[in-house]
Parts: sequence; structure tokens; C-alpha cells
Amino acid sequence: MKHILSLISEEVEKILLQLGEKKYRINQILSWIYDKYCINFEEMTNISKSLREKLMDIFDFTMPQIDAYQKSKDQTEKYSLRLSDDRLIEMVFIPNDKKNTLCISSQVGCARNCQFCATATMGFIRNLEVEEIVAQLFIAQKLHPENKITNIVFMGMGEPLDNYDNVIKAIQIIQSDKGFSLSPRRMTISTCGVIPQINKLADSGIKIKLAVSLNAAIDTKRDIIMPINKKYPLSDLKKSLIAFRAKTNYRISFEYIMIKNFNMGDEDVKALIKFAGDISCKINLIKWNNVPNLSWESPSNEDIEHFITKLSKISAAITVRQSRGDDISAACGQLISQRLLEQENSKTENNL
Ligand code: SF4
Repeated sequence: MKHILSLISEEVEKILLQLGEKKYRINQILSWIYDKYCINFEEMTNISKSLREKLMDIFDFTMPQIDAYQKSKDQTEKYSLRLSDDRLIEMVFIPNDKKNTLCISSQVGCARNCQFCATATMGFIRNLEVEEIVAQLFIAQKLHPENKITNIVFMGMGEPLDNYDNVIKAIQIIQSDKGFSLSPRRMTISTCGVIPQINKLADSGIKIKLAVSLNAAIDTKRDIIMPINKKYPLSDLKKSLIAFRAKTNYRISFEYIMIKNFNMGDEDVKALIKFAGDISCKINLIKWNNVPNLSWESPSNEDIEHFITKLSKISAAITVRQSRGDDISAACGQLISQRLLEQENSKTENNL
């Protein structure tokens, strides 16, 4: 049985037409799903009982459940969602004056082992299904009916390009005109640099912006903090990104987590200018926030000012990303690690 959120609106329409349903009826159902964010067929009050029963027979409409929730002083909200196999994933809702961003997950855990990432400590568990990706938007929008979600970033748990097919289908569902119709310019995939999949995305015709988690522009340093660099080093990554830019016309953005005594020295600035200076790009600088069990050090405001001054020669636009949700478990994977620890502790207590 297909999950209703694993289908593009046109596919839902096709199935219902084949069942002999009238166009206006189908539009009513699509409006419940994509305008009112309702897939509980029992709540579709303007649809006949017999059709609702038919829909329940042909579509799966189970949803992840909210397992835990934290709200920051700055209104950022972090959710842990429980999937049907009891696995946990995270999503983060970041409201702003002009835009509301949802940060979503693409995998349970991650195989890429970046050394600054709480998700990496879980290892890879499994890819998310299409409906589990789309459901995050669905749940977040239902929770915030007054705040339309305008932007989506694949920056939650997992490397989205390692779950390529399901992520691409979810993007198509979210962007579809008759569906959620979110603008491609308001969706971003963040990758650690999986070159073959970046190339595939560039050739796919799918419209989406690309952010690359860079964090060091010197191979020996990037090898340490992001092991993927040993397989796909910076020079190859750069070639792939230049081709992506040429084929899609989308400007690349780089995420650069500033870590004291690691990637903020003169040689790092020089390397970053050399790497990104001739790519049409934007660089987002992010201050490292301490994560339990990870030993990197957070820079002072003075360290950051120095770094930015030295970097100002670069032609790329530089932004220092406002750290949101500092007072909650804001780093990707942190809330889940905390929840898993709590579960372990309660199992141990029960066994005593
Ligand atoms: S930063 Fe992203 S790619 Fe790297 S381990 Fe974490 S989730 Fe995976």
C-alpha cells in the first residue's frame, strides 16, 4: 500500500481518476492534503463516507509521532520525531520576521563521520523513506498554521545525497505546483561533498540550491574534520561545484564552522581565498558551539572579528550566521543523542 505522502499530487490525481472519481472531488481531496495539511481521511468532512473508506483502503497515511520538543528563547523549536520502527529523527523550525525555515532530516544517523557532528556519533542506521521526509514539512506546518513555512533546508540528520532517490522524490513532491508548491529558490540541500551525487544532481534538471559543508580549505585539515575529503579532495570538489554552478545557474554557498586553534589561522584564510575566491559563491561563517563529547573549542568574538577582517579580501559574499537555538540542544543530532541516553538510562533503571 502506497503512503499518500510518497506521491506527487499528479500521481494522487491519476490514482483517483482511475477509481472513477470526478475532477472536483479529486480537487477537494488534494486541497485537504496540500492546503490544509490533513491526511486523516476521517477529517475530510466534505467527502462522502464511502469514498473516505475507499481512500483508507488504498493509501497508507500513518505519520511519525512527536517524541520530544524543545523551544529556545529565540523561538527556534526542535523536535524529535518517532518513526514507525521506533527510530528517532530531528527537525528544527526556525521562525523569522520574513521567512520561516524548516531544517529536515534525510537519514537516521549518518555514515560520513564528520568530526564536529553529533549525528555522526550514531553511525548510519537507515535512509528515510520519501513519506518520512515529506511528513516533517507536514507536521511542522500543522503545528504552525499561522506561520507558513517558506524555506526548507536539508541540514538535519544525514547526508541527503546519500539518500539521493528518496530526497529527490521528496523535493519533487514539495515543489509540485499542485502540491506544496514551494519555490526551488527556497530549498537547499547541504552536502559534505559527495562528488558523484553532486554531478548527478547538476545533470538531473532538479532545481535546488546547494550548500557545501566546507570547514577547512586545506586537504590535510579537511581530512581530519571531514573524512569524506580523503575520497573526494578539495581540488575535485571545486571542479564539481564549478560544473554545478555552470549547469544550474545557482550560486553555491559554503558553510564554514569557525573552530578556535584549528581553521582560523593565516594559512586557513589564504587557502579559503584560493579555494572559493574564484567561484561565484556565498560563505556562511558559523561559530562552533560546544557539543558534549566533542573536544573542539569555540572562538571568542575577537577571534571571529580577526578572521573576518583577514578574509575580507575575498570577493564572495560573507555572512556570519546567527546561531539560533543556542540554549537548546541545537546542533544536529544532539537532541536525539540526549533522548537515546535517557531511554538507555530508563531501561537500566527498570532492569535494576
Ligand atoms: S555533518 Fe552531515 S554529513 Fe557530516 S556526519 Fe553530520 S549529518 Fe553526516
